[in-house]
Amino acid sequence: MRPNSIRNWLVGWVARLPARVQTKLLAAFLSIVGLLIVLGAVGLQVLSGVNEQTDVLIRQQRKIAAYHQVQHDTTSQLYSISTALLLQEDRMLDAALRQLRQFGYDLDRMEFIARDEAELLAQVRQDYDRLTAEVTRVVDFIRTGQRDEARTTQLAQIMPLADRLERLTNQLVNIAEADMVDAIETTERAYATSRAVVISFVIGSILLALGLGYIISWSLIEPVKEIETHLSQIAAGDFAQKVTIANRDELGVLAQNVNRTSEQLGQLYRQIEARTRELTEALTYQTATGEVLKAISRSTLHLQPVLDTLLETAARLCRANRALLFRLDNGLYRLRASYGFSDEFKQFLENNPISPDAIGTIVGRTTTERRVLHYEDIETDDRYMWKEAQAFGGFRTVLGVPLLRDGEPIGAIVLSRPYVEPFTDKQIDLITVFADQAVIAIENARLVRELKEQSAALAASVEELKALGETGQAVSGTLDLTQVLDLVSSRAMALGQADACGLFRYDRTNRAFVLWRASGLDEDFSERIRHIRILEVETAMGRAIQQHGPVAVSDIMKLPNWPLRDAAVGAGIRSVLVVPLVRAERVFGTLVLMRREQAEFPRRTVDLMQTFANQSVLAIQNARLFREIEDKSRQLEIASQHKSQFLANMSHELRTPLNAVLGYTEMLLDGVYGDVTGEAHEILEYIQANGQHLLALINDVLDLSKIEAGQLALALDEYAVQGVIEAVASVAQPLAQTKGLDLKVGIAGDLPLGRGDERRLTQALLNLVGNAIKFTDAGSVTIAATAVGDLLELAVTDTGPGIAPTDQERIFDAFQQVDNSSTRQKGGTGLGLAISRRIVEMHGGTISVESVPGQGSTFRIRIPLQAGEVMEAA
Ligand code: ADP
Repeated sequence: MRPNSIRNWLVGWVARLPARVQTKLLAAFLSIVGLLIVLGAVGLQVLSGVNEQTDVLIRQQRKIAAYHQVQHDTTSQLYSISTALLLQEDRMLDAALRQLRQFGYDLDRMEFIARDEAELLAQVRQDYDRLTAEVTRVVDFIRTGQRDEARTTQLAQIMPLADRLERLTNQLVNIAEADMVDAIETTERAYATSRAVVISFVIGSILLALGLGYIISWSLIEPVKEIETHLSQIAAGDFAQKVTIANRDELGVLAQNVNRTSEQLGQLYRQIEARTRELTEALTYQTATGEVLKAISRSTLHLQPVLDTLLETAARLCRANRALLFRLDNGLYRLRASYGFSDEFKQFLENNPISPDAIGTIVGRTTTERRVLHYEDIETDDRYMWKEAQAFGGFRTVLGVPLLRDGEPIGAIVLSRPYVEPFTDKQIDLITVFADQAVIAIENARLVRELKEQSAALAASVEELKALGETGQAVSGTLDLTQVLDLVSSRAMALGQADACGLFRYDRTNRAFVLWRASGLDEDFSERIRHIRILEVETAMGRAIQQHGPVAVSDIMKLPNWPLRDAAVGAGIRSVLVVPLVRAERVFGTLVLMRREQAEFPRRTVDLMQTFANQSVLAIQNARLFREIEDKSRQLEIASQHKSQFLANMSHELRTPLNAVLGYTEMLLDGVYGDVTGEAHEILEYIQANGQHLLALINDVLDLSKIEAGQLALALDEYAVQGVIEAVASVAQPLAQTKGLDLKVGIAGDLPLGRGDERRLTQALLNLVGNAIKFTDAGSVTIAATAVGDLLELAVTDTGPGIAPTDQERIFDAFQQVDNSSTRQKGGTGLGLAISRRIVEMHGGTISVESVPGQGSTFRIRIPLQAGEVMEAA
């Protein structure tokens, strides 16, 4: 395995560990710490080994020293023994012996030190013991004087023993020294080993720390780099790449998030791109549509450039090389605009307009079916049968779009390609929009044209109406019948732009027409026709009144040769328009317009003359009625004067005997002519009451007739309002009392003196107060007087039955009473309020009533404090 791949493998492995970054760092730290702990333990162990080795060395050293001592002691013993033996002196021998024994103890003690060399030491001990024994024997020989034996023993036994001992002790020393060397070497080796271990641990720890740090940091740096690269790719608009990192830690989560975000961004970007594409496309379409609309709005009158622009734009946007626009014209679809086709083909189409029921053609079928038709390849399409056109035009993929106005076809657009490439849905939608715009353009142009025509017609109509209005005004401006007839005939001639005009009166009895008025006719001709008996059946005028509508004759030569026709022809008349003068089934006559030229009367003139005739009939009728009314008014005036005179006389004539009747009745009741009792008394009282009522009625009638005859004059003088009211109250008080009503009088303190007819004002107020008491059954009647500016206001308020709003105006007219049983029961003439009103109006004032049925009424008189007589009010 190559180191690089090991590194990669390690970095990958760490990245793949399913742990968080801090856990990984902690694990690395802990493993370094663990290694250091192991390092410490190993170090300690090595130290204790070194220590032990030192102990061994010391012991070895001591052993060597002890063995040297033994060697030395042995040598010196042997020397002293050999000396003592040589000298054979007792004391020396004893001393040597003692030393030997002593040495034997020393050797015993040595056993503890020289365990390893126990065997050798045992031999030494054994040889010493034998030596000691031999020496003791020799000493004994010597002491016993057996010198030879001593000598022999010394030579045979002691000398070899001594050599042996010497050798053995040397051997002991040598062994110890060799051991010592071994121990030193071992120690050195152990030291070297421990140093190597420590150093290798230190290096190992450092390497581990570095390695872990490196691997962990690279397991972080690499993905971060990867993510960074990816983010810059995203920033550069590349959303296709993915961050692929093995990390299962936070970076892994981050990478996933980045991937998700990038995916979403990618999606959004794609959506935005798609939307932008759509928008751009829509904008292109809209701009084009806008341009077409602009073209439409710019030239409403000149349709052709608009249709050309529209067709070209539509073809361009739909990527169609060729396009045609047809319009329905006199029942056939004719070419109106084309784009991309040869002049010959255009000529061909112009020469061959398409019938709406030719469903074998594109135009025929699309307009019949009223929907867009898509021929993907017209060559193989069974629906298409006009092979000649196809061969000539050379189209393959074709789109037929009907132009529909209110669902009805008025034309069609045809888009085509000389090769097979179907139109997209968008293009089809677009061309539909263009078709709508074409319809708008065509409609606009039509409307503008119609509007212009209508405006012109309207302007003419306005002129005519103005003339008609003026004529009407002039005609109805007078109520003189002669003038009206003159005006009608002369204005009709002008309005109808005729050479002459005749007004003929219809004579119901003879069923004939008589010339009434003429304009523009020469006297002779007028005179002649005045004497012709024009029978209803013998003229176009008869037809006109029968059908109650105008009759136009463009050439009177075609009429039967009746007397009037002949006369007209003789006067050079060639065409006539007869308009009946009819109103509410009543035939007045006819209006005849005459022209010298032989021509049709335009419809407008006919309508205009009809209107004028209707207006004229009204004026003629009005003038006639006015004449009648004038006559009647005159008669009425005379009759009214007679009536007033009669009434005034009659009243006077009636009052005198009535006063006599009342006077005598009163005298009878007062017993002047003897006692009248019982039923006779009752009858007399009845006569008196009715007589008084009759007198009141006569007085009222007299007053009213005087007023109406203009005979009542006001006696203007200064008066005190107070006086008027007191006079009224004094008469009303007893009446109120009898009915148990409360009569209240309220007069403002600072009322100035008034000017007027005091007696008549008192009469008017008394009428009101009398009515109030008469119609009120319970409660009160109040009389109030106040000044309102320059006016004096007298108000009479009661708590009676009240008057319905519908009756409030009516009651002021003569002989008007509220028609209900309660007021009827109260009696009266219905003249009181009429007289009061006349009196008040003669003073320049007003009288009014406010009343709520069931709650009472208030009658209010307002007159100027300083009244002058107003005669015309009467
Ligand atoms: P009359 O002689 O009938 O009273 P007027 O002209 O004075 O004639 O009144 C006309 C009618 O107005 C009366 O018949 C009555 O119906 C109604 N009228 C007048 N004054 C009052 C009133 N104060 N309350 C109710 N009705 C009234």
